Amino acid sequence: MGTRGREIVGMDVDELLRLLNGAFASEWLAYYQYWLGAKVIKGPMKDAVAAELNLHATEELNHATLLADRIVQLGGAPVLDPKEWFPLSPCAYDAPADPYVTVLLEQNIAGEQCAISAYKNLMDITKDKDMVTYNIALTILEQEVEHEEDLESLLEDIELMSSRGR
Ligand code: FE
Ligand code: FE
Ligand code: MG
Repeated sequence: MGTRGREIVGMDVDELLRLLNGAFASEWLAYYQYWLGAKVIKGPMKDAVAAELNLHATEELNHATLLADRIVQLGGAPVLDPKEWFPLSPCAYDAPADPYVTVLLEQNIAGEQCAISAYKNLMDITKDKDMVTYNIALTILEQEVEHEEDLESLLEDIELMSSRGR
């Protein structure tokens, strides 16, 4: 742990570590939801959508890396047991039980919207208290905002195709 780096955090570090581990758990669940969705997807434009789902999966995994590194830096441990992902995550895991492309897009849009709220919350809590975590949360938030728009735009394309293509 970085001694001075931890000292400058102007909030309860254990509380901060709980928030960071919740976000870390959410990222693994988001990664798996995207990764699996790209495998099982069916319906119009499925290859284009699967490519985007796969790209988002790798980006969620990168978010998990950023969070794990910050947790370790603060002297904590990233969630050690995947069993803990569900109870710790602020955002739900939505199993792709119905693999139809628009259903998957809607599930993942809801996931991104939860992630956006969670990182906004992390930024509000760390603002003026922990600039390093604040900056990580901003970096991730920018990408979650992009993810939401990517998926909404794919959904719109498919809806336009089905309403005007006959
Ligand atoms: Fe993410
Ligand atoms: Fe995302
Ligand atoms: Mg994208």
